Amino acid sequence: RIVYLNGEFLPFDEARVPIMDRGFLFADGIYEVSAILGGRLVDNAAHVARLDRSLGEIGIRNPHDAAEWERLQTELMSRNGVTEGLVYMQVTRGVAERDFAFPPADTAPTVMMFTQAKTVAANPLAEKGARVVTVEDLRWKRRDIKSVALLAQVLAKQQAVEAGVSEAWMVEDGAITEGSSSTAFIIRGRTVVTRPLSTALLPGITRASVLRLAAEADLAIEERLIPVAEALEATEAFYTSASAFVMPVIEIDGRRIGDGVPGPLTRRLRELYLDIARAG
Ligand code: PLP
Repeated sequence: RIVYLNGEFLPFDEARVPIMDRGFLFADGIYEVSAILGGRLVDNAAHVARLDRSLGEIGIRNPHDAAEWERLQTELMSRNGVTEGLVYMQVTRGVAERDFAFPPADTAPTVMMFTQAKTVAANPLAEKGARVVTVEDLRWKRRDIKSVALLAQVLAKQQAVEAGVSEAWMVEDGAITEGSSSTAFIIRGRTVVTRPLSTALLPGITRASVLRLAAEADLAIEERLIPVAEALEATEAFYTSASAFVMPVIEIDGRRIGDGVPGPLTRRLRELYLDIARAG
């Protein structure tokens, strides 16, 4: 397995990062994940743009322009022979003596990428439908930044695993913010509902594409808060992410959603998304 670290393509075992890396000490870094389907990167321009935006928000210099990122991603995919799966990118504020404040301006960011080969399109969970539980949203106030500080999401996902379900939907003031690693949606009749973008959640790249596809499919769209009580009464529900695409939800907190099987509009949106993903 070959990974990328600071300008080099290296065997996994040879890619080492010093203990003083600020990603390790402070979770002072940004990441992105793009899916690979049929040998192509999915929605990648938007992921690379969000990486640039996240880095800018916390004052880390983006070491590469968009074309260079894509060239590096593509080379890593081909070196690993990955045609379906994920590519992970991470940039931290670099290696420096431990101090909360930023290190000297000439400190080089640490840049790392790896690929994971896995089946993302023919996912059995998408056929069966996922179950989710709601958990308290314990995160900070800048969730629009895709930071590697993911402890609250780690704890949320572990609660889901311990409940025997696939995802945790995080709740603040009685409304769903988002999944631990996904954007939450419900459908009522022919209306797709999801939370509006703000600093309270990550601007999902898959979210944006799915909203566009929903509009093209003549579904109504409401971007507003979703109270948990309303989600439990939804006719359909689903979540989106680069790795899950459009994942049907059949149960929330033990309550069956719709008929307890993936809903027809959700299935349609998944197919439409897979079509554009395959088309590149
Ligand atoms: N929200 C959170 C908290 C996430 O971690 C993710 C993805 O990892 C998403 C939403 C979905 O975003 P995207 O569709 O860009 O993968």
